[in-house]
Amino acid sequence: MEVRREIEVSGIVQGVGFRPYVYRLATGHHLAGTIRNTPAGVTIEIQGPPESIEDFVTRLPREAPPLAHITNVAVRDLPCNGDREFRILGSRSGEQVRTLISPDVAICPDCLRELFNSSDRRYRYPFINCTNCGPRFTITRDIPYDRPRTSMSVFPMCSACQAEYSDPLNRRFHAQPNACWECGPRAELWDRRGRRIDCRDAIAEAAAGLHAGLVVAVKGLGGFHLAVDATVPAAVALLRERKRRVEKPFAIMVPSVTVAQESCQLDDGARAALESVSRPIVLLPWKNRSPIADQVAPFNRYLGIFLPYTPLHHLLLAEGAFTALVMTSGNLSEEPIAIDNKEAIARLHGLADYFLVHNRDILLRCDDSVVRISGGKTRQLRRSRGFVPVPVFLEEEQPPVLAVGGELKNTMCLTKGKHAFLSQHVGDLENVESYNFFVEAVEHLEKILEIRPQTIAYDLHPDYFSTRWALQQKGVQLVGVQHHHAHIASCMAENHLEGRVLGFALDGTGYGTDGRIWGGEVLVAGYEDFERAAHLEYVPLPGGAAAIREPWRMAVSYLAHHFGRDFLALPVPFVRQLDRQKAELLLQIIEHRVNSPLTSSCGRLFDAVAALIGIRHQINYEAQAAIELEMAIAPADDNTAYPLGLISEGEHWLIGTRPLFEALLADLSRNVPARIISRRFHNALVEGFAQLADLLRKQSGLNRVCLSGGTLQNVYLSEHLESRLSAAGFEVFTHGEVPAGDGGLGLGQALVAAHRFRSQGTL
Ligand SMILES: [Zn+2]
Ligand SMILES: [Zn+2]
Repeated sequence: MEVRREIEVSGIVQGVGFRPYVYRLATGHHLAGTIRNTPAGVTIEIQGPPESIEDFVTRLPREAPPLAHITNVAVRDLPCNGDREFRILGSRSGEQVRTLISPDVAICPDCLRELFNSSDRRYRYPFINCTNCGPRFTITRDIPYDRPRTSMSVFPMCSACQAEYSDPLNRRFHAQPNACWECGPRAELWDRRGRRIDCRDAIAEAAAGLHAGLVVAVKGLGGFHLAVDATVPAAVALLRERKRRVEKPFAIMVPSVTVAQESCQLDDGARAALESVSRPIVLLPWKNRSPIADQVAPFNRYLGIFLPYTPLHHLLLAEGAFTALVMTSGNLSEEPIAIDNKEAIARLHGLADYFLVHNRDILLRCDDSVVRISGGKTRQLRRSRGFVPVPVFLEEEQPPVLAVGGELKNTMCLTKGKHAFLSQHVGDLENVESYNFFVEAVEHLEKILEIRPQTIAYDLHPDYFSTRWALQQKGVQLVGVQHHHAHIASCMAENHLEGRVLGFALDGTGYGTDGRIWGGEVLVAGYEDFERAAHLEYVPLPGGAAAIREPWRMAVSYLAHHFGRDFLALPVPFVRQLDRQKAELLLQIIEHRVNSPLTSSCGRLFDAVAALIGIRHQINYEAQAAIELEMAIAPADDNTAYPLGLISEGEHWLIGTRPLFEALLADLSRNVPARIISRRFHNALVEGFAQLADLLRKQSGLNRVCLSGGTLQNVYLSEHLESRLSAAGFEVFTHGEVPAGDGGLGLGQALVAAHRFRSQGTL
């Protein structure tokens, strides 16, 4: 007896070798039928004995090619017909085939073997790829994903490549970037004036330059990297000086997990993240400093490590037999990463000595992604290359919304059906280049998703460039979303929560509904709205942005707030060493409230403590003081926590910091070391927030807690708070797929806007 079934598979199943895979699976089971691409994915008709069909259906999603991302499999019965074989059908004519584009992924093991096999026709070919690997998102101009709409359109395939491309059983069947020495892109080495350097092998020459301590700009998948030998302190120092990047850690690329293990502590989760096809930078605890130069990540206990992901990376590392290369974004400080050869020369000629370029255009800028493993979970810190444009899957269908994100670490988000598409990392929208990239990224995302939402969600901060852009758009419905509400909604969406939750949104800066700068917020929130249930007590932010760059200002602000000018007599080093003239000026600013908005920021509280205990008075990159305060924690069993004051104000709670500062100052005057003070400070937040959660549970009956905001990227704080809350019987939800910081803001904004839109009955 035979049966026939129709199987509809949706998700990322085109251009990823799915049809040949199904062909092999079906013929392996001696089943007959067909497969074709459809607008939603692929449709398979399959006929044969029921038990074989059942096995086929079970294995279909389980053994799918690495780049396939199946979101749904629907099976229904069909009447049998006379099919005796399995065939791959073309798309129905006139039918638009539109599905999700795959992200860019690392070279696969098969291609890697060919790359280093001297008898293979692609031996040492830097652009080898197949349907299981290679560039995708960054070479795509438009959809559907087809060679003419990619930057490979200028390279007509040779007959050997064309034969592979047309053979359903070949690994390169419909591999759009398929190429070889004969027909594909080439690498060249240029000098800093953009002149081609005549040499036998550009990669070997670049490796020689790196060995000589030079800086080489290397064109990758989503942009240029600046590379130096990470084991040579002088080379790393040179790169820091040229890039004007004083202390912010660099990521390093190492040839293998084994090498990573020599420098860093690796568990199974970290190993899996390093070796995953998306090849993110993984932040790992630094175990053994040598042979990596100290300047790679000064004052940091973590090292950002990633493995090579393009064939060119593999060739470069092998050619120079490098232990580790610094591979940092090819840009000057916070500008967007360079992608075009000429642009790279123009912008990076003062930074790099050589340029290892190629003639396959990068059409979309896409920075490396950054993850860390904490609480047994991979957590996105920067979700970009290798992950974008894979959507976040939502619980319910949402109306189309464009959410423009925040100001720093900007990403945007577009909802379509049950999918939320987060853009690649756009960066800090403070310079014109980033702003242009932002506008480009919006247009491109709308184009490849074929959607132009009539609802735009934006942050309430009037000075954010993303907000200003949103407010300029005509003929759309605009929805302003409070920053911390968006953080909590983002955490809810990622965890598929509905209803209301207790939300702890802890970060540096977010514009509040009272016009003040929020950042230590406890909300009772649903998607549509929120109440501010508690917040850190307000203190002045003396000098506005200057107070963010100079944490000592926050220390003075807190001390003056709690103790008035009496603090100037405190017997602690911070006060004794304070420049009296500068302090006097600052106190005048505070007392007269000149450019000193009030803030409840948790990030600024970290800054104040870091400055007070002598860790950092000024910063060179965002959140540096808070990061170094976390790094200072002693691995000890001291569970002492400084007290926080919970002050009831009707339905709301104020989190008072005076008891914390009193206890901390007492420790300081007793010369308690910074590593212990830091620990007690972190414990204060854990205990204080846990007590608050308890009080709010009694008030509201809510038992689910969402943790979000950039401050919760602090591993000690997030892990301890999570376990403390779990122990108290709370259901705790955190971020994984989407960053807890502002890179995840767009998702929350979109969901808030979508829910408001729906409740108004306009869906
Ligand atoms: Zn491959
Ligand atoms: Zn070829």
